[in-house]
Amino acid sequence: MVGDRDVLVIYDERVLSHRPEAEEEFLPGRMDKRIRGILDGLGVEAKWSYPEHPGRVIAVRELLEAEPIAGVRITTGQPATREQLSRVHTTSYLENLHELEGKQAWLDVDTTAVSAGSLEAAEVAAGSTIAAVDAVFEKKVQSAFVICRPPGHHANAVRARGFCLFNNIAVAAAHAQFQWDIERVLIIDWDAHHGNGTQDIFDADPSVMFFDTHRAAPFYPGTGDMEEIGEGLGEGTTVNVPLPEDAGDLAIINAFENILVPAVEWFKPELILVSAGMDAHRTELCLNMSYDGYSAMTGIVQRLADQYCDGRLVMALEGGYNPDTLARCTHRVLEVMAGAAPATVREPGVEEVAEIAEFHRSAFAEME
Ligand SMILES: [Zn+2]
Repeated sequence: MVGDRDVLVIYDERVLSHRPEAEEEFLPGRMDKRIRGILDGLGVEAKWSYPEHPGRVIAVRELLEAEPIAGVRITTGQPATREQLSRVHTTSYLENLHELEGKQAWLDVDTTAVSAGSLEAAEVAAGSTIAAVDAVFEKKVQSAFVICRPPGHHANAVRARGFCLFNNIAVAAAHAQFQWDIERVLIIDWDAHHGNGTQDIFDADPSVMFFDTHRAAPFYPGTGDMEEIGEGLGEGTTVNVPLPEDAGDLAIINAFENILVPAVEWFKPELILVSAGMDAHRTELCLNMSYDGYSAMTGIVQRLADQYCDGRLVMALEGGYNPDTLARCTHRVLEVMAGAAPATVREPGVEEVAEIAEFHRSAFAEME
């Protein structure tokens, strides 16, 4: 039951200081001209605002305060060091980002902006994910969840993309192998978008298995085909499950039971990390999951962590842009991590139709 397990939640207010504005100029300047030209051509009347804003994580924190979960303890995080970040990002990328410290700019065509406090926020997001890994290895808690931003799974070794600056989950995986002397890490990415950055970073690395359910290309970022299975020595440790936009709980739970479970039996991870995006919920219009679906997915992941990793499980927030949905999904995930029985998924409406059919049946029988 809820409260049977101890879960550490890391929430650090420094992640709120990443406040990109849509009006900032693009780098380089010629890109700014081009993109504004495209936007003007689209005739968009309404002001576009940056979807990855501080209100997202504030909503999660507020719901946890309004509806506390037994067994869940909240603490602050820490910034990652340059050395920790450099295990997955190149020195030149880190230097380029540091040169932007305190400035305001767009970094890339696909909307990754920075503001004055962005670098510190990104360092705290990555460092807090590291702190979560340390907490489970030190056995201070059974599992941990990091309510962080900016998210990370679109960033690769050399490039910020899709609202992501540092790849938090990849930095944490590399830290676990370095600090805790383990060999095999499993990263599960259930965000609705493919975790292209994480896949890139560990593409040829057989010590990190990457399993990703997502909406199929051409949906952003356009990668994650079934045939992308890793390269070189890493061939076989990348597992992609591209899905149609209406795929919901039944399909995704099926993918977890029938693709992830056998993969994990073969790989035998020593730590499970989850890129926990909440944008697969149907209100986000990317995939068609429910809150019960998130609860059920967490149940499978927790079961695998117990079976193979002595319970070691760390999740870090990725996407989810409707603050209410994001908060509720996170709450349901945390309940299961804290010991609640996971939900069973069903096709919506089927049970109701069976009851209604029963209600009407006798009426039509009398008419015969
Ligand atoms: Zn996403």
